[in-house]
Amino acid sequence: MEETKKMNQAGTTGSEKQVLLKNGFIVDGTGAKGFVGDLLIQGSQIREVSPQPIAFAGETLDCTDKVISPGFIDAHSHMDRSLAYQGHEDLKNPFTAQGCTTFVAGNCGSSVGSLRRGNPYLSQITLFEKFPQPVTWDSMGGYFSHLEQIGLSHNLVMLTGHGTEWITLRGRNPNPFSADEKAAILYRLEEALDQGAAGVSFGLQYEPDIFCPPEQIREVARLLKRKNKILTVHGRAYSKISGAYRDRETPHNVLALREMIEIARETGVRLQYSHLMFAGTKSFPSYAECLETIEKAVAGGVDVMTDTYSYHCGYSVINVILPAWFLADLPANYHNPEAVERVERGLNRMPEHIGFGFDDIQIMYADHPDLRKYDGWFLSEIAKDLGFSPGKTTLLLSEKTKSRTHILNHHYSDMEIIDALISHPACLFMTDSTVSVTGLQNPASFGSFALVLQYARDRRLVSLEEVVHWMTGATAERFNLKDRGFLKKGYAADITVFDWKRVKDNNTVTQTDRAPRGIEAVFINGCQVKHFDQVAGSANAGKVIRI
Ligand SMILES: [Zn+2]
Repeated sequence: MEETKKMNQAGTTGSEKQVLLKNGFIVDGTGAKGFVGDLLIQGSQIREVSPQPIAFAGETLDCTDKVISPGFIDAHSHMDRSLAYQGHEDLKNPFTAQGCTTFVAGNCGSSVGSLRRGNPYLSQITLFEKFPQPVTWDSMGGYFSHLEQIGLSHNLVMLTGHGTEWITLRGRNPNPFSADEKAAILYRLEEALDQGAAGVSFGLQYEPDIFCPPEQIREVARLLKRKNKILTVHGRAYSKISGAYRDRETPHNVLALREMIEIARETGVRLQYSHLMFAGTKSFPSYAECLETIEKAVAGGVDVMTDTYSYHCGYSVINVILPAWFLADLPANYHNPEAVERVERGLNRMPEHIGFGFDDIQIMYADHPDLRKYDGWFLSEIAKDLGFSPGKTTLLLSEKTKSRTHILNHHYSDMEIIDALISHPACLFMTDSTVSVTGLQNPASFGSFALVLQYARDRRLVSLEEVVHWMTGATAERFNLKDRGFLKKGYAADITVFDWKRVKDNNTVTQTDRAPRGIEAVFINGCQVKHFDQVAGSANAGKVIRI
């Protein structure tokens, strides 16, 4: 620990330490053709990038046959909780090991920066594991100060979560807002934006945002447009059929995307439609229509993009498969036989309607002592073990853990979809993840960026320069990061050195916590936090990026 601290100080403060990255293949993040050259780091910034050798006698890293790239920016992260813990490097280092230097966090309506000290509804926040450290802040600015005081491992860009603001204002109450409540939530969102949040996130499949009427989203979008900030949305549906719409003609995931694009068109807001995924094999064919919908919107002047990882599975919480009407009256509905029967009927029809069933839902961890043995099990297996129907098992997990059952949903995509998304110019890259304190891990926390590079190369989807551009410069521009994402003089020295020929994700269906191969060295603000075969980590290399 002491050693790490000393190294950080040498790397980031005082003496303006210089390090030369020598003879690498420089891919600068713009998408322009790479070239062999040198890059000199001074203090926390890039001092020089040159195709000519830079004369320098100090510390030098030989990058022969390696790519020197801007550090990868995670366009959709949930790391705002882990970063608020002092220590716990094991929760942070896996992201360093895959080359990630900056997180855009606070997504899906849930943002730790929007929590308030002493708030009576704190226990109702469910997208995160229980918060083991006291919340000592009561604004986004206070959260930023907390992070700066304890030290940050990575750079952080924050969104403020509409769902979290809703809960801190009035619990999970599903009823429409009064005029006063509406004014209060808009005031709080605006305050967070003024304190440096990059935008507002919604989680329209989770309580309480699932109850949010379009008019309220529109009002937030207008605020964001006025402030030149971004709107990110976890949509109302990611499957062909859902509880969110009655339409039988159009896939519901397409309707959900259109609903948000319409709001972006009306208000002119920048829209980031989060983690384009397709729950269930019967939802897969709609991917082409989704991408076409985005292309048409872009051609018509709407500023919309999306993001993806390259796994066929993704992280969520158990209530994501329950309909809004059922969630609107909890815990009472758990004990209402009519409601239970109706919701079970719906759940049992999932395989028929969307090609997604209880064999596709794997428990990462269920927050109740009686249920901990089920980490890593599929819902269908737990149902057999308990002797209940899978529907009843779902409700039992939801109730016992007060919705804190974290799941890994399988069958979100196939290779045809992944190829199309990686190749698509409206698609950024991300992890949508955190490292779990206990239980089964989401492979995206460990190998997401390596897997995108691997597929881009092996499946010949896009060039090295293009894939790096989308992971770095394009993402920096999307979220208005002023001096990051490119290898340019005066820019922050966030740098990932990797082996383009060897880079490979090492996760499998059963092993989901393995570091990738070929990510060789990582610098965050000039501080080297990964050295070829080992992550040294660092408790204070990162910075809060106020937008
Ligand atoms: Zn989400």
